[in-house]
Amino acid sequence: MLVDNLEKINQEIQLACQKVARSDSDVTMIAVTKSVEKHIAEELAELGIENMAENRVDKLLEKKMALKNFSSIKWHLIGNLQRRKVKSIINEIDYFHALDSLKLAEEIQKRAEKQISCFVEVNITGEESKHGFKSDEVIEFIHQLATFDRIKVVGLMTMAPLDASDQVLHEVFSKLKKLQLAINNHHLSYAPCTELSMGMSNDFPIAIEEGATFVRIGTAIFRGA
Ligand SMILES: *Cc1c(COP(=O)(O)O)cnc(C)c1O
Repeated sequence: MLVDNLEKINQEIQLACQKVARSDSDVTMIAVTKSVEKHIAEELAELGIENMAENRVDKLLEKKMALKNFSSIKWHLIGNLQRRKVKSIINEIDYFHALDSLKLAEEIQKRAEKQISCFVEVNITGEESKHGFKSDEVIEFIHQLATFDRIKVVGLMTMAPLDASDQVLHEVFSKLKKLQLAINNHHLSYAPCTELSMGMSNDFPIAIEEGATFVRIGTAIFRGA
């Protein structure tokens, strides 16, 4: 079951890449395991999945412990992170996808023992319910990170509105891409910003067409499994 779902997702990734003449080697699928038990995550690891994500600190630590024999797995924290939890998680992960405030950046700077690859979270549509910077705040925020030697801004992350039309999805994702290009123009050594973390089970082909380099996929992997 998992194998079939993964195969189907891979094909969709390839198709989306072909459509816009991108190489599928530029797109990394992250398996979001928040909805499944440890043993299912372990099955994924056995199938060769090398990027795993959780949106909660305690769950990520649990899964990482359970999968400690799979030492090549990269761990992604994709959910909102409270400052008081930074200390327990920040040195356990390879990527953090939800940097959404200067206060959080300060705490990461204080607790990290190495440089942490971070995505700045952007709230493209400005929905009240969402975390992340508004588009017009992002560049100023990134400039404020200049002295934070423990934070590397590897890219931007966004979540599209639920149930948006394809047209709106294209708009949201292409806005994140434009913002990335604007940041690239600043040539900041601590903010290469080469990556775009966007696209989930329902919208990843569109995100890839618009330039996603990391897609975060949960439901589509576990459907019927
Ligand atoms: C749960 C989650 C995903 C995966 O969503 P699916 O619709 O299950 O693919 C991606 N990103 C974030 C931040 C999530 O919390």
